[in-house]
Amino acid sequence: MTAPVLVLVDHHDGVPRASGLELLTAARDLGPVEAVCIGEAGAQAAAEVGRFGAGALHVLTPGTTAPVALAAALARLVETTGAATVLMSSTFENKELAAHLALVTDAGLVVDAAGLETADGGRVVTVQQAFAATWTLRSEVLRPRAVVALKPNAVPATPVDTPFEPTVTTHDVDVSAMRERVVERTPRPTSGRPDLTEAQVVVVGGRGTEGDFSAVEELADVLGAAVGATRVATDEGWIGHEAQIGQTGVTVSPRLYVGAGVSGAVHHRGGMQASGTIVAVNADPEAPIFEIADLGVVGDLFTILPQAAAELRRLRPEG
Ligand SMILES: Cc1cc2nc3c(=O)[nH]c(=O)nc-3n(C[C@H](O)[C@H](O)[C@H](O)COP(=O)(O)OP(=O)(O)OC[C@H]3O[C@@H](n4cnc5c(N)ncnc54)[C@H](O)[C@@H]3O)c2cc1C
Repeated sequence: MTAPVLVLVDHHDGVPRASGLELLTAARDLGPVEAVCIGEAGAQAAAEVGRFGAGALHVLTPGTTAPVALAAALARLVETTGAATVLMSSTFENKELAAHLALVTDAGLVVDAAGLETADGGRVVTVQQAFAATWTLRSEVLRPRAVVALKPNAVPATPVDTPFEPTVTTHDVDVSAMRERVVERTPRPTSGRPDLTEAQVVVVGGRGTEGDFSAVEELADVLGAAVGATRVATDEGWIGHEAQIGQTGVTVSPRLYVGAGVSGAVHHRGGMQASGTIVAVNADPEAPIFEIADLGVVGDLFTILPQAAAELRRLRPEG
């Protein structure tokens, strides 16, 4: 019998995040899928993970971000379920958790994977992009167990034809040995746009915006995209530092990246070159970003972006 795959599904107030649904989809090729949620996750989470093929939902409580305590709880789950593979989304927090879990379960560890396959004998094979996506790496996990942190957007989330009705089990996380605790959480005011690191579409503004991000934001909203920026834009204070993409910012791998007034400097490319399709709008036909763009538009972003937004609105079906 094939060993189950445990999938850590990140959620917001019990609503699974898109990255979790992608993981459940990827996991189905590896074996029977069991979802894991950290913290309160009820009927809505169960229904949603069932829709994406999970036959069980394990809820770890209390919800904590402490990697050592969570790794111990997950290791117990690996033991009791006999899981051979644990998948999680490759976020900053999850990568730390993945490392702890691999250590305590003696598993092979791969983080920032952009693809997942199985080799003969059922071994897990991962695909990673390296050196600003100029190299592709295929790795085979040699240990009987694998812990893999997969990047958002690596696979499209596809529900199963007939939804599963997962059994829901709650497991205690032993937090007695924790050395610190969260005393307060204050969510950052949200823009209503998707999370930059998880977004399927990202529209990025650079120095060419001269501080006016309205055209970038307008196109982003038509596309349901997140807004990103170059370091010049964040250093100038035109947009918050959390929007910075690149070597000293966040790494994104959306299906579609649109860069406007972005030159494509190597430090920026390091954070976006793994994007699926790259579209560049730049006034300078010699701009380096055109070397990596799938579609390049030479022109003024303040003309091109509103035209693109208007055309997309026109093409969008009513309703
Ligand atoms: C150690 C280090 C780390 C760094 N880390 C990062 C990082 O993480 N992320 C990052 O982004 N940068 C980083 N940088 C900075 C990086 O090297 C570049 O300076 C920066 O990415 C350039 O930003 P830009 O493309 O917005 O600006 P520029 O390079 O000045 O390019 C602006 C572009 O806009 C075009 N343009 C101007 N007006 C218009 C218009 N109206 N319409 C269309 N196009 C127009 C121009 O033709 C030009 O190509 C780092 C630098 C160092 C030294």
